[in-house]
Amino acid sequence: MESKAIKKKDIRSLTLEQLRTFFEENNYKPFRANQVYEWLWKKSVRDFDAMTNISKDLREVLRQYFVINHIAIDQMQQSADGTIKNAVKLHDGLLVESVLIPTPTRTTACVSSQVGCSLDCKFCATAKLKRMRNLNPDEIYDQVVTIDQQSRLYHNRPLSNIVFMGMGEPLMNYPNVTKAIDKITSQESGLGMSAKRITVSTSGVPKMIKKMTDDGAKFNLAVSLHSAIDSVRTQIMPFNETFPLKDLRDALAYWYAHTKRKITYEYVVWKGVNDTQKDIDALVKFCKYVPCKVNIIEYNAIGDPKFKQAEPEAIDAYKKALESTGVVVNIRRSRGKDIDAACGQLANKSK
Ligand code: SAH
Repeated sequence: MESKAIKKKDIRSLTLEQLRTFFEENNYKPFRANQVYEWLWKKSVRDFDAMTNISKDLREVLRQYFVINHIAIDQMQQSADGTIKNAVKLHDGLLVESVLIPTPTRTTACVSSQVGCSLDCKFCATAKLKRMRNLNPDEIYDQVVTIDQQSRLYHNRPLSNIVFMGMGEPLMNYPNVTKAIDKITSQESGLGMSAKRITVSTSGVPKMIKKMTDDGAKFNLAVSLHSAIDSVRTQIMPFNETFPLKDLRDALAYWYAHTKRKITYEYVVWKGVNDTQKDIDALVKFCKYVPCKVNIIEYNAIGDPKFKQAEPEAIDAYKKALESTGVVVNIRRSRGKDIDAACGQLANKSK
């Protein structure tokens, strides 16, 4: 018998419109596509046979042309503080990580947007992996679904917030990140979460920040600043050479002018890197350009002796200086320390 090999497509790479067209072309009623779409996204099924309102022969046709790629938890670690860290295996065997972070008032999912990262931030474990590929929208969406399930199971409540602070630079995978966010926020074909509860964290790609603004993005924006002095920032985040602080500042002003949403600056203070009064003064000045708040993050050491958490006095000095000019400062303690929750650490280990 002659067998014609069809290269099966990931069915979730199709838009609803494309799926409807496929149905029409195969002489099925297009509304069936809506039903299938709901199974794929809203109900997150992993097998065509779970689509109980779809006839057996149609399920067979779908199976002939498509696969439903899905992620799987390869390794899960729970911290004493309730943080859960997952090493997530993708359909091609690559690994990323996603983390559930509970606090008394919220449960936050920290998700990845790329396998590895093309930026070369000197203090970040993910940078050591280099960028292997972008995540697809369904791979980002599935991380959120998985963490929501874990939140319900281990903390008896649904997921409340999402931050794009896992592996990768979300703005270097902007189309897929926005497609995933569209699904996460969609009432009809997704999770129906509010975009206000989503934060995209970027190392700061000015033209993409402008594009997001023009696209009418409804989520929040966080920028990993770490220094407001170009020469210092370029040393620790080399792409700052290409996207200097002035361009970043202009893009952020554009974002604020259109969205009226404050920007969060993420900032780690390292001993001997950015812990002087000059560094503090530069940040205070930078914070005047665009309404913002500052999260000072505790450093998770990745074994490089050049980067050591600064003394508490330096953090205090930052906090006092910023607060004296009216900037809200949060000091963020590291979560899940006992389970390698720092960016990129778990995936690095399982590799
Ligand atoms: N590429 C994006 C999102 C991923 S990194 C970005 O740069 O924002 C998420 C946050 O973790 C960033 O603020 C990053 O600077 C910070 N980070 C990376 N490695 C860290 C480490 N070892 N300890 C503490 N924060 C780290």
